[in-house]
Amino acid sequence: MDSVYEDVRSILENRRIRSEILQQMKSEKILSDHPEIASIEQQIALTKEQMLLESLEGNSSDRQALELKDLEKKKADLLSSLGVDPKDFQAVPFCSKCGDTGYVVKTTKDGQQREELCECIRSLLAPVMLSRSGVEKYPGYSFDAGAERFYVSAPAMQELYGKLRQLAEKGKVPNAVFYGSSGKGKTFTAVAIAREYANAGRSAMVIRQAEAQELMMEHRKVIQSFYTPRGKEKEVEKKVGYLTECDILVLDDLGVEARTANTEADLLNLLDTRILSGKTTIITTNYDMESLKERYGGRFFDRIDRNFRMFPFSGSEKAL
Ligand SMILES: [Zn+2]
Repeated sequence: MDSVYEDVRSILENRRIRSEILQQMKSEKILSDHPEIASIEQQIALTKEQMLLESLEGNSSDRQALELKDLEKKKADLLSSLGVDPKDFQAVPFCSKCGDTGYVVKTTKDGQQREELCECIRSLLAPVMLSRSGVEKYPGYSFDAGAERFYVSAPAMQELYGKLRQLAEKGKVPNAVFYGSSGKGKTFTAVAIAREYANAGRSAMVIRQAEAQELMMEHRKVIQSFYTPRGKEKEVEKKVGYLTECDILVLDDLGVEARTANTEADLLNLLDTRILSGKTTIITTNYDMESLKERYGGRFFDRIDRNFRMFPFSGSEKAL
């Protein structure tokens, strides 16, 4: 497992321990300040024990139940007369959303319950995800830049941009090809999406297709060669692993890379793995669909056609 997740887990563990210790100290303080509370608590504990014993022997424990009710009431009255909040005896978690478990249960649209990473974990992960993502090479490429203004004269583009932004905030951007001539904000939008993901603690990577291709070629070499220095092998494995597994991958500028014998196979392999594991890929390219088909052949185009949504970036064409 990635060590960053281990680190986050131990931070949560420490938070839980810390809040338990604080809670114990607080309870002890209250009880030593007000011994009469401790005495009622002792009676409550004894009564519960008796109830258990009676029920084990098959006897009625109604009498103890009444006593217990009475004691609980006395305790509540005592607490309120002393101005002590019953919540003062409970641990206060660092994160109230997940109680420091790191997970929250969300109900999906079809009524199913799903565990999700809590915001507190995401915010711990965000700095790491940002530095790994490569978006820092594109300063200012962010939804915060308010790029709506670029598209003032193109309402359809403005709408597309707005929708992509909303999907990015939810971490639900579909596989997509942004195509069209340069200077229409394809890379800007793709990087802004990746940044949004990383800021939310999701794993993201922005890489030019030319670099991705080099990385995959290197990986191929490492696999095929008899000997590679161990450090080098690990480094390539790690990079290719991230390329394959990150939650969102932006393959920037498809089509300008030099063609090699393996270009199409490597690309297909990468996309197939990502599609299978449900990870999002965004491709940007200056090519139109016809030219892409010509350049990469039917199998690649087929994959794109079936699994990706094509978004023309221009001034006038239709949006989402
Ligand atoms: Zn939380």
